[in-house]
Amino acid sequence: MELIGAEFFSIIVVAAILFDRWKVQKQNSSLPADKAFFKLLVAYTGFLVIALFNHASILQVVKFPLLLERSITIVHLVTFPLFILLWLLSIESQLLERKPFVILGILQIGVLAVYAIYSLADILLGRAYILDDTLKAIGGNGFITTVLLSVAYCVLALAIIAISWKKIEMGNHLLFIIIPLLLMVSMVFFYLFEQHNLFTLGTSFVLLMNYLFLLRKRLEIDSLTGVPNQTAFMTRLEWILRQGHEATVFVLDIENFRFINHRYGIAVGDALLQSFATYLSTLVQDGVIYRVAGNRFAVVAPKLSHNEIVRVVNRFKVKIKQPWEVADTTISFHVNVAIIELPDHADAKDQVVDTIDFTLSEIKSRRRQSIVIYSKRLMLLRQRRLDILTALRNAISNESMVVVHYQPIYDTSSGHLVSAEALMRLQDDQLGLLMPGEFIPFAEHAGLIVNLTEIMLRRVCTFLTNHKTAFRHLNHISINVSAEDFSSMEMSKRLLDIIDNSGVRASRISFEMTESLLLESYETVKNSWGAFAQRGVTLALDDFGTGYSNLEALVNMPFDIVKIDRSVVSNSTNNFELITLISVVLERLGKRMIAEGVETQEQVEFVRAAGIDCMQGYFFSKPVPEDHFLNLLRYDNAK
Ligand code: C2E
Ligand code: MG
Ligand code: MG
Repeated sequence: MELIGAEFFSIIVVAAILFDRWKVQKQNSSLPADKAFFKLLVAYTGFLVIALFNHASILQVVKFPLLLERSITIVHLVTFPLFILLWLLSIESQLLERKPFVILGILQIGVLAVYAIYSLADILLGRAYILDDTLKAIGGNGFITTVLLSVAYCVLALAIIAISWKKIEMGNHLLFIIIPLLLMVSMVFFYLFEQHNLFTLGTSFVLLMNYLFLLRKRLEIDSLTGVPNQTAFMTRLEWILRQGHEATVFVLDIENFRFINHRYGIAVGDALLQSFATYLSTLVQDGVIYRVAGNRFAVVAPKLSHNEIVRVVNRFKVKIKQPWEVADTTISFHVNVAIIELPDHADAKDQVVDTIDFTLSEIKSRRRQSIVIYSKRLMLLRQRRLDILTALRNAISNESMVVVHYQPIYDTSSGHLVSAEALMRLQDDQLGLLMPGEFIPFAEHAGLIVNLTEIMLRRVCTFLTNHKTAFRHLNHISINVSAEDFSSMEMSKRLLDIIDNSGVRASRISFEMTESLLLESYETVKNSWGAFAQRGVTLALDDFGTGYSNLEALVNMPFDIVKIDRSVVSNSTNNFELITLISVVLERLGKRMIAEGVETQEQVEFVRAAGIDCMQGYFFSKPVPEDHFLNLLRYDNAK
């Protein structure tokens, strides 16, 4: 009777699982159906029904003809190993490569089939199973063969698990071991102590465990698109890398997705993501798609050759060029694609993420290509950036790495050296002399620029105090600053303190800020800019003419000098009218002008004719070290 109770209990467990599975599937049709688990559930239900009939007839609750009763009993016994074989196959299918799986599978099914035929023939022969009046097996070797076969399957499963230990996804080891172990123990108990219930309860427990495991998997599914989410992606990456497998990863980032949501509404945005996910699932053969962020998807495929990648990319390009039809709306959007290969481009999970981010940010900053395969060139570029960042950090603690070069500025009419611009370089043991064009953007991005400006200012002030006489005819030395340096009054105060402490007159220092930075952060910079102006610091607008001009800011900002960018000067033949006009306007506004990047005699003539006050450029001198600059100054003083 306990056995029937256990079987009823099991039927309820399985029915509940089946019902829940059906309900979830109905609610979310995009969820991938777990077919293997479903099949097991159905097989187990069949087994339970047969078992119930068998035990009901043993207890004489129902009465069947003798032949049918014997058949049911023997089928019931044979379905033990069948059920265990199904588990074994589902474990093998996950752990073995396709070929060994098929060979081993055929072998196992063959063994079971022979055993089944032999057992069923016994219905007539009555040798393998000797049953008493109540259909209880009391002799024959069928019973022990059933148990041995089942135990052998379980042992085989454990051996496969042990061999393929590393292949098992993170966190699934326990589940993988417990299933065959529990089934095996149940079989042994079943045989030695005739504890039939344990097998029934054990199997239900295994199913329940498996279901809980599937539920956990469901947490790794993105509810909107039905594809695995970022957690699943990370688990997958870790698994691939641990296995040493090769894979090609496509990361697709929909640009300005916020704008799409904003313009067409969230519902359309959601529909777009769903339809995009559906499209992606067909893009790469054997590729598994993941939604790794709101507007970012990844497709992980077994390693593709370069030609295969190109084919995928071309197909994608054609598709994405066409407008997308979703929810009665036609949307055009832009997608950036980063392609990386594992483990060539990254051999740790976090590295993969960094590489993806780096490649996508490269795409965004370059704006030329929207599909980029991470390559050796990008790898070197990235390494260089990391090295530069390290050099920058080192330079802040080891100030001797900061090298200041001075470029003289000459008065157009008198030809005398009247001021200079201090330009920063970094001297790194490994990287050599680094130029600001390469490191300033990183310093700004990494929040290190403020420290560098302070170092520069201290150096220039010391230079000025140490050579008071040599500098007596010099108006000022200018230092380039970034928006960050002027972003708060506290920051400005620190710079002013450096000047005050050095004893240098504030007007001997000039700050240059590029037109683009100044206008971008106009509101933030305005107050500090004013404070410096009040203290008499000379302020200059750098790179004027590079396309950012905002007339209102130009008129309202209290700067003294405008530096005409090299690009304008080098094209002075064509820009002559413009330069002359600017010079007239700026003169009216009371600003002085410096022409940057003067390289030829011809340009000198143009600048002079346009009425520009000062000139700076390779024609006169490149930026030079301190002592060289002092020589230039001495030479000029002697003129
Ligand atoms: P900038 O302030 O416009 O400086 C002028 C740049 O043009 C310098 O490049 C200078 O060497 C170069 N130059 C001068 N005359 C000529 C010429 O005749 N022909 C050519 N082809 N180039 C000329 P450098 O030193 O590489 O600096 C590049 C930029 O880096 C600077 O442009 C400035 O924006 C920034 N920078 C330099 N030092 C610092 C610094 O200490 N702090 C900050 N925040 N930025 C700096
Ligand atoms: Mg400058
Ligand atoms: Mg400039």
